[in-house]
Amino acid sequence: MKVSELTWDREGLAAAIACEDAAFEAALREEAYRVKVDTIGPEVYLRGLIEISNICVKDCLYCGIRRDISCPRYELSEEEVLSAARTAAGRRFGSVVIQGGERTDAAFIRKITRLLKEIKQIDTGDDPPLGITLSLGEQSREVYEEWFDAGAHRYLLRIEAFNPDLYRKIHPEDHSYDRRLQALYDLKEIGYQAGTGAMIGIPFQTAEDLADDLLFYKQFDAPMVGMGPYNPHPQTPLTLSGAPYPSAERRFALGLKMIALLRLLMPDINIAAATALEVLDPRGREKGLLSGANVFMPNVTPREQLVKYNLYDRKTSLPDGPSALEHGLSDSRIVIGYGRWGDSKHFRQE
Ligand code: SF4
Repeated sequence: MKVSELTWDREGLAAAIACEDAAFEAALREEAYRVKVDTIGPEVYLRGLIEISNICVKDCLYCGIRRDISCPRYELSEEEVLSAARTAAGRRFGSVVIQGGERTDAAFIRKITRLLKEIKQIDTGDDPPLGITLSLGEQSREVYEEWFDAGAHRYLLRIEAFNPDLYRKIHPEDHSYDRRLQALYDLKEIGYQAGTGAMIGIPFQTAEDLADDLLFYKQFDAPMVGMGPYNPHPQTPLTLSGAPYPSAERRFALGLKMIALLRLLMPDINIAAATALEVLDPRGREKGLLSGANVFMPNVTPREQLVKYNLYDRKTSLPDGPSALEHGLSDSRIVIGYGRWGDSKHFRQE
């Protein structure tokens, strides 16, 4: 298969995803990197990642912090979140992401609202106030509006699997696919840069499913996408079911390939080099950036809590923390956009 022979319909994308020819995959990644530089430039945007809590009301079958799993729980104090945000500001990351398990209790919602307002007041010197992305799951439209009015302007809510049958296989019965889709459209209507994404290489998933994920990002007109390879957690029902999934090597190659295909399909959007890549390869995120991604999220969560945010196995072995930039990005082609919000060119042109 040759990159020039690719077609961008479901059949063509599925064929590209299924093709395991190393030369084809390398050529695809190179082409995606070239298109990224030509379209949006070589810059990589930074987001200081703050993992606010691993308490969650949901019970996704693949997740290491699901409601019914036994693990140490934590919730950062407001001062800890602000301190992490100040770290991001001090290092001129330009933006932060507040990510956590899904919670819909009033105390948590008000806490986020207060934090958004306070983060906007953090001194960033000559740079604009910190940009803020939230990734806190499904909320009511009113809550999304409250957080938008308080200063959040991007929201990441991954669909995880666009195929509804596959979605149902990896979630308990009371998790509604339709509700998730509706939440994404609510976010968009409110004015957020609404990002989404999916896991790559999960049990039961076909090349056609992954092609449908890519076509969904296009149809939803997502200004940003955060997707990454599936990393099994040993205690989850999905892992314990024994359902097969691709090898680590294959999941990593698929993760890079999905980034490259998406860059070619949607040249001017933001694509994150997900932490999940680094679980499979010490230079995983850097390789993601060289395959077409343009967003990198150094983790600024306090180290003693970071080790408890165990979505999947081996995350705690990552050389992360505020020094992750020095660990993560050594390739001379990577240019860091310090002090920039880093909104996607696609969103700015809508
Ligand atoms: S994937 Fe997200 S919503 Fe689902 S259990 Fe894990 S943290 Fe909660």
